[in-house]
Order: sequence, then structure tokens, then C-alpha cells
Amino acid sequence: MTRKIARFLAAEEPATPCLVVDLDVVAANYRKLRQAMPDAAIYYAVKANPAREILDLLVGLGASFDTASVNEIDMVLAAGADASRISFGNTIKKRSDIAAAYARGVRIYAFDSRAELEKIAQAAPGSRVFCRILTSGAGAEWPLSRKFGCAPEMARELLRDAGGLGVVPWGISFHVGSQQRDPYQWDAAVGEAARLFQALEEDGIELGMLNIGGGFPARYRKDIPTLCRYGACIRRSIARHFGNRMPDVLVEPGRQMVGNAGIIQTEVVLIAKKSANDNRRWVFLDIGKFGGLAETEGEAIQYPIKSPRRGRAERVILAGPTCDSADVLYEKADYRLPLDLSIGDRLQIRSTGAYTSTYASVAFNGFEPLRCYCI
Ligand SMILES: *Cc1c(COP(=O)(O)O)cnc(C)c1O
Repeated sequence: MTRKIARFLAAEEPATPCLVVDLDVVAANYRKLRQAMPDAAIYYAVKANPAREILDLLVGLGASFDTASVNEIDMVLAAGADASRISFGNTIKKRSDIAAAYARGVRIYAFDSRAELEKIAQAAPGSRVFCRILTSGAGAEWPLSRKFGCAPEMARELLRDAGGLGVVPWGISFHVGSQQRDPYQWDAAVGEAARLFQALEEDGIELGMLNIGGGFPARYRKDIPTLCRYGACIRRSIARHFGNRMPDVLVEPGRQMVGNAGIIQTEVVLIAKKSANDNRRWVFLDIGKFGGLAETEGEAIQYPIKSPRRGRAERVILAGPTCDSADVLYEKADYRLPLDLSIGDRLQIRSTGAYTSTYASVAFNGFEPLRCYCI
């Protein structure tokens, strides 16, 4: 936790649960990525945390934006970004939303199917389009599976047909899976993209852009390689597969940009055992899966959790406050909290700046959505 966040929590004593984001950390994360990938255009994946202050900051730093809906596009425009810095990167868009984005000046669109390409061609004529290809998702703690992307042969066919439909075939994208802990996982997809560039050149089409997606990790309980390692690995892959015909490179960081910048302050609502000889305590917090911690699903993302107490720490099961039995955060994972932990204690859930405030339900069981303070 940064000193700025500690001071804010001590001075303001905000009601819990709440998320506090330190904008200085976001700015530092942006600069780190800039350094790791000096030649790449940075398209912040807005869904990770669309707080106005974060968008303002990134607009000021010169970032571009990867968006998934007209609402996200409007948030980015309201923060002062030019429409030329927005990519509509969702591969699943309503025709009416594509038209609305086009009317706002957005001219970059993603697709991974023929029907989507045709929608874009009709509703956003003349735009630049890129095709997302499948990746394995191996090595990622929050894989994106087969929902997105198409086989390379299909990408070739669709990009070959794009021009005839009235849009500009611009490039290839992929996403190696979120919280990707292996920097080498980009290599196969970069190689696949380079082969597609080559194949399309044989078809008379010159692509210009390689979008290497997001996937850069935040630090949770386990160590992660440095961002420089990722940058070096990926740049080496691109140089090796593309040789001296370097494409324009785009990156779409979400988690890396904001994950470690935020902490959630939560209150212990109840500590209980299920029987007299039960040796594990159940610790119920005022935030759970429906309050913003959706990525604890399958215990995939394991946030560090800190208590101010100093007693001996023993295994606990952590759960949220709602009346849904799915609202258990960690049962299998080894979480330990001090034996002197008490009801009413405040805990800090660290590295929660990404994929929390947007995942909070509106009012399941009457609980308010997660409040986010950017300082
Ligand atoms: C969610 C998403 C990202 C961001 O992914 P991270 O793993 O958070 O970096 C980037 N690009 C696309 C298309 C996405 O859907």
C-alpha cells in the first residue's frame, strides 16, 4: 500500500467496502510500459477500470484506448481523448453500436468472424479493421478461452475479403490470456501473425499493424517477471518473426496499468465456526464475489489480504456477505489471518485496482456497488 493511500484511509475513514486508487502508481505503470515497449502504441483496456480520473490521467499521458461498448467510448471522449485514439476492440458488437461509434468518429474496429466484418463494413465504411486470432491461453491465470479469435486460415480469408467490402484490412490481434505469467507465451501468436502478414502479401494485401493485446500481469500473492522481461521477450519475438519489415505495434494493457494501483478496504462482518471442533474459521467480509471480487471465481486471482493485527495466523475460509452460496472467495487457497482478528476489524485487499469496481453488482441483496476513490 502506498503512503498516499494509507494517509487517505486514516484521514477520511471512508465507509467500507471501498476501492482507493493511487493515480501516481497508474502514471508510473504507464511509464514502465512505455519503457518496456518503447515503439508500441498503448491502448488502455478501459474495462479494467474506467474511473474518470484514470482516463483523464491517461489522456494526458498520451495513451490511446481499447473500448468494448458505446458507453466506454463516451467515457473516453468525455475525458478529452480524440476519437482517432479509440479502438472498438470488442469482436461482438451490435450493428447499431458500430454505427454510433462511427458517428462519434471511431475508425478502428476488431472482428473475428465474417458476420461481424460485414456489420462493420456496412455501419462503419472506410474504417480500418483488424482480425483477432485464437491463442491457447496457456500460462494465464485468467484465460480468455475460445470465445475470442478465429483460426488463422479464416483470418486470412476475411482480411482478403475486407477491401472488397469497403473497409481497410489493417492488421492482426490476439490476447494471450489475462494475468499471463509467462512472457514467452506471446511468441507463438506473433509467429502466427507474421505468417499471416506473409500469406496476405501473397494475396496482394499489405497489412501494417500487429496488436499484441493485454495479458501483462499485476503482482498478487506470487512473484511475476518484470515488465522489462516481457518487453524484451516480445520485442525479440517480433524482430525474429517480422525481420526488417516491422509492423506498427499496439498493446492493450488493462491489469498491468491499474491492478497494483488500488486497494480495497473491507470490514470483518462475522467470524464463525461450523461446529465446536471445526478447526477453520469462516471470515465473512463486507465485500464478496458480487461486490467486485468476481475474479476470485475458481480462486483464480488470489489477492494479498492484510490485517493490522499481529497474532498467530491460522487458516481461514473467506466469504462475502450476500445470501448466495457461490459468494465464497477462498476456501482451497491457503489464506491465514491472525487468531486475534475481530468482528469490525478493517482488512486490506491489495492489488485490486483492476476488474473490481466494474464487476460489482448494482444492488444484489441491496448491497451498493463498490465505491472507487482516485487520489
Ligand atoms: C480485456 C482486454 C484487454 C486487457 O487485458 P489485460 O489482461 O487486463 O491486460 C486487452 N484487449 C482486449 C481485447 C481485452 O478484451
